[in-house]
Amino acid sequence: MMPPDCFLCDKGLATGDNCELICFAKTESDHQWHTLAQSEAGLTGHPPECGWFCEQHLETVKSLTHLTISGALQHIRERESWHLIYIDLFDRETPPMIQRTGVGYESGFCEFWDHILPTTETDGRRYPSDYRLGFRCGIPDYSLPRSCPDLTLIKQNLPTAEEETATGTIKQLSISQAAALRTNGLPGAEECLRQYCDRLSGTQP
Ligand SMILES: [Zn+2]
Repeated sequence: MMPPDCFLCDKGLATGDNCELICFAKTESDHQWHTLAQSEAGLTGHPPECGWFCEQHLETVKSLTHLTISGALQHIRERESWHLIYIDLFDRETPPMIQRTGVGYESGFCEFWDHILPTTETDGRRYPSDYRLGFRCGIPDYSLPRSCPDLTLIKQNLPTAEEETATGTIKQLSISQAAALRTNGLPGAEECLRQYCDRLSGTQP
């Protein structure tokens, strides 16, 4: 039996992260495995078309279950790899640095928001550091303007009392932006933020 460790990162049993089993389209040999499993009692292990995925990668793989598992993993590793770039605005001699790398657009946006939100105050003042999210496959970097009312608005509306709620809020935004990026490219992800902020400002008194 394969341990419940994420097929795309280090999370799993050892790190105390729960993973979920996700199943993909079956190949010919997967069909044969199922036929064999039905006829032979005692064939153990999870079906070969299924894999374990951590919370951060769950939504990414759910968007690709129409592919076979190897096709989906290859697609994510090759087409959805990202890197988070840190820009030091205080010391301009310091070149931009890659601070994090990963695969799956959802986890990329999550990291972006987790890092960029602490660079602003609720009154809109920014600290002299910035972040950009870089992609492969000809997608331009995702970044926010230095003076960004959207960023301030999100910061103001972030629930501060419970850390878990704040994480949930960022996760939801990241999931929508990742889906929009997948279908409509960078303009899609930007439009998604605009709509999100319109909803936020609509709920304000
Ligand atoms: Zn993972």
